[in-house]
Amino acid sequence: MRRRVGGLETEFGLVCVRADGTRALEPEAAARELFRPVVAQGRSSNVFLRNAARLYLDVGSHPEYATAECDDWWDLVAQDAAGERILAELVGSANARLAEDGQDARIHLLKNNVDSQGNAFGSHENYLVDRRGEFTRLPRYLLPFLVTRQIVTGAGGVVVDRPLGEPTAPGTPRFVFSRRSDHMWETVSSATTRTRPIINTRDEPHGDPTRFRRLHVIVGDSTRSEVSTHLRFATTDLVLRLIESGRSLPELALADDIAAIRVVARDLTGTEPLELAAGGTTTALEVQQRWLDLAATVAEPAEQGVLETWQKALDAVRTGDRSWAAQHLDWAIKERLVSQVVERRGVALDDSVIERLDLGYHDIDPSGSVFASLCRRGLAPAVLDEERIAAAVTTAPASTRAHLRGQVVTAALEHGVDHVVDWTTLRLTRSGSAPVQILDPFQTRSDEVDALLARIRGGGAPTPGAV
Ligand code: ATP
Ligand code: MG
Ligand code: MG
Repeated sequence: MRRRVGGLETEFGLVCVRADGTRALEPEAAARELFRPVVAQGRSSNVFLRNAARLYLDVGSHPEYATAECDDWWDLVAQDAAGERILAELVGSANARLAEDGQDARIHLLKNNVDSQGNAFGSHENYLVDRRGEFTRLPRYLLPFLVTRQIVTGAGGVVVDRPLGEPTAPGTPRFVFSRRSDHMWETVSSATTRTRPIINTRDEPHGDPTRFRRLHVIVGDSTRSEVSTHLRFATTDLVLRLIESGRSLPELALADDIAAIRVVARDLTGTEPLELAAGGTTTALEVQQRWLDLAATVAEPAEQGVLETWQKALDAVRTGDRSWAAQHLDWAIKERLVSQVVERRGVALDDSVIERLDLGYHDIDPSGSVFASLCRRGLAPAVLDEERIAAAVTTAPASTRAHLRGQVVTAALEHGVDHVVDWTTLRLTRSGSAPVQILDPFQTRSDEVDALLARIRGGGAPTPGAV
């Protein structure tokens, strides 16, 4: 598939603390406070926004933002960044209400993947793939790529290794490419809650089921760097394209993906041998380089930049020269930050100072977060300009069906018309209104939607100050 639709679901960690750092509100209560304006407007904690994204509160009090369908990976980065803005605004207004109430309580939303109790939560990538294509062949080729992709797109962090079966024994802290790797227990499955597979195969295409499937990649870290987020989608898209091309591909299936993903996380040189299913060994660097070299044969001229950035990322691991990576890729930005603090303050890697630094890195607060301050100082990338991100807060991607959904939601909010939408369906709640189905994710024009828009604009009372 040359043109591919994708979307990114981000679950956020939520804490509500007093000035002294102790817990103020339970997460459920804090989440309710956070979503108060959303529920007031949409009468639900599960809504679609003007930019055609989905914002909802699932069980477990992890607010989730799922971007609209994008077919351009910089659009996706913009839509994802817009989600951070929207949630940061909700955090700001919730904190203002708590302060007005005289409560010593501040909500923080964290775009990370593991909470202080060690529970993991997700950043799920969705890719449209052809139903007729190579779905059964996918995992064999995709898994070794995904197991090793963390050396490029991991968010970095510290884990503490203890001897097997001795959870209280003194441990060895180490910096890893991805902490999430330790939370993966299965390679492929159709369940998301019970087990955490690298690839989820639940068959929910959100489109014409005779033509499409939706590939769900569960293994990724939430990334803060725009370069890292872009690389996650752009490199995976290229690898999918290679697999779909039906050509013969390198047999890099690993003997044990789950053991390998932990090894790769801990090996900052990318050279630790990984056993191949067919015998012999490979390394994380080798797997990534093989896919990158092959990707060059299918990449379009506009994608040369992706290949170059991917190569720079691999070179940073291969040579140990982090000068580029430490300003562009999450794991390397964090690695530099952590090692500076360890050195300056003489603390161990598992010191609580480092844990707080890590949380500060993932805090989405635009004024208080460590990541935002790195961006301002030019130590982390800000590729997209301000206007593009601001536009993505209210405007859906123009080149997918999200454009239609965005128009309907925007008009319905402006005109105070009750509506129900999901990824494929647009409907007005009023009786006699037939639902409009958009089963092709690439569709951007529809007479039925035009008629729906006319009906919305023709009736209903406007909502003052609709957001
Ligand atoms: P849940 O997370 O509640 O289990 P879900 O996996 O269906 O359900 P949503 O949170 O609703 O996920 O998000 C779906 C994501 O898939 C969105 O980011 C959306 O843009 C994307 N998406 C929608 N349709 C397609 C499609 N046909 N192909 C690929 N991605 C799609
Ligand atoms: Mg979801
Ligand atoms: Mg999902």
